[in-house]
Amino acid sequence: MPNPRSHYFHVEARFLEPPSGLFDVSLPVWTPGSYLVREYARHVINLSASANGETMPIVQRDKATWQIEVPHGADAVAFRYDVYAYELTVRTSYLDADYGLAHGTTLFLYHPEWKDRPVTLTLDLPDDWSVASGLDGERVLSAPNYDALVDCPIQMGRRLVRYPFSAGGVPHTLSVAGLGADQLPRPTFLEDLTRIIETAQSIFGSLPYSHYEFLVTVNEAGGGGLEHRNSANIMVPPSRWRNPRDYRALLSLFAHEFFHLWNVKRLHPTVLGPFDYQHEVYTSLLWALEGITDYMAPWLLAKSQTIPATEILDHWAKQIATLESQPGRWLTSLADASRQAWIRQYRPDANTPNITISYYLKGALAGLFLDLEMLQATDGEKTLTDVFSELWRRYGEGGYPEDAFEALLVEMGGAPLQRALARYVHGTEPFDESLFDIVGLRLERGFQDAEDRRPVWLGFWVTDRQGKLLVRQVERGGPGEEAGISPDDEILALNGERIRTAEQFNERLTQLAPGQSVDVLLAHQGRVLSRPQAALPPRPDRYQLVPVADASLAQRERFERWLGVPLPQDA
Ligand SMILES: [Zn+2]
Repeated sequence: MPNPRSHYFHVEARFLEPPSGLFDVSLPVWTPGSYLVREYARHVINLSASANGETMPIVQRDKATWQIEVPHGADAVAFRYDVYAYELTVRTSYLDADYGLAHGTTLFLYHPEWKDRPVTLTLDLPDDWSVASGLDGERVLSAPNYDALVDCPIQMGRRLVRYPFSAGGVPHTLSVAGLGADQLPRPTFLEDLTRIIETAQSIFGSLPYSHYEFLVTVNEAGGGGLEHRNSANIMVPPSRWRNPRDYRALLSLFAHEFFHLWNVKRLHPTVLGPFDYQHEVYTSLLWALEGITDYMAPWLLAKSQTIPATEILDHWAKQIATLESQPGRWLTSLADASRQAWIRQYRPDANTPNITISYYLKGALAGLFLDLEMLQATDGEKTLTDVFSELWRRYGEGGYPEDAFEALLVEMGGAPLQRALARYVHGTEPFDESLFDIVGLRLERGFQDAEDRRPVWLGFWVTDRQGKLLVRQVERGGPGEEAGISPDDEILALNGERIRTAEQFNERLTQLAPGQSVDVLLAHQGRVLSRPQAALPPRPDRYQLVPVADASLAQRERFERWLGVPLPQDA
């Protein structure tokens, strides 16, 4: 790393005792856990190769593969190159004068037949930088193979703040870089993490690693997370780190990435490890791997009593509301959405919610409803956690056949689970919300505002962008589409009244009556057009999961079996 402020990592990759003859090296095109071809080779420059001190010619064979001819008797071949790293996300690499975040898939070449071999990584950093990663070692790191190497993002920098703690008898470290790294979101943050970790541990029996690292970058550009076998890469905006208004969402992000160390990193269909780094890999199970993880995260918060169950129930009710705003739920099943991840989940546009669903959002709700189905089918005996512990007992680290997860659900829950999978996962039928009754809950759809303050529905959503009020999304089959309103149209006026911001627009909608005609004046492709339509009645915007009146003992027992805490009204 001769000059970190230039944002280039300098890499030397040495392959010891190579066979003579043609020798390929490749750079991955994607990162496991993030299903988009990102073409990391586009950031590589100055590639050279040498053997026995002699520079060797290189042939580029395809976008991410290079070939040399190794001479007889070479002890090693070395590839030297620079990688531009200036994208601070959980699946790219970043380097500046003070901080670096290295993702192996973006940086390290591999020889296709040698991915199983042990790797040693030596970091050449400024003396005052420190390092955090899931690998063993600080400046000299070792990994048993290439998969393990690139599964460990490496955080490096001048001002890493490390918070060591013990959970489940195993050392853990929270390593934080960026603005506000020297303070925790709450004084109880490490205790809360510990409780979440130990609650997850109680499902599987033990923690399958010798140390675990939460690598946090406080980052103005945004948030997110990516799972690894014994680390999690987490980005949090400064406002959310220093003063989390939504502590549930922050803890949930940590719980989500942590639960992945089982669900995805160890328990996964066989296509998800060992990896083909050059091509898309396909599974119909991303709803279970991502979606159910996104269900288990808030479940862990409730069960560990780090967040009150009422907040978790509110979260699930809001997720149902969001799903019900997306017409794509009638078109695309969870299994299909999983296979389409590479072209849809990671490449959304204004029409995406019209034609598909997120396997995170609907997958989380599928987890919730499958859990309730399991509780009902087994008369309170079994829950999803039993499915995970049994999956872990049967398959452990080895990967499982594509159909094993669903087969186990059916084995444990019988015909009701088979029907539920057909409807919720392979079909597009709505969830059976009468299931909430078995745990003493009821889903209520209502309104946030009094009757005279509810916004009518025009069939499209708007957003403020670059000083303009633009149409963000038009509902498929809705009145906006019927009236001829399109994404990116600029809204100028409603019924002759100039509207400049989304706030004004939404305020105006509360003053219109259902059935009233509305003239939408807009600019479309440079022309100003009038688009009359009739306002539809307000839609429910307040979904709540509330306890039923006079819950029975059986309902209360099942609730407690499910979330580990009393039904809220009894608390
Ligand atoms: Zn995830």
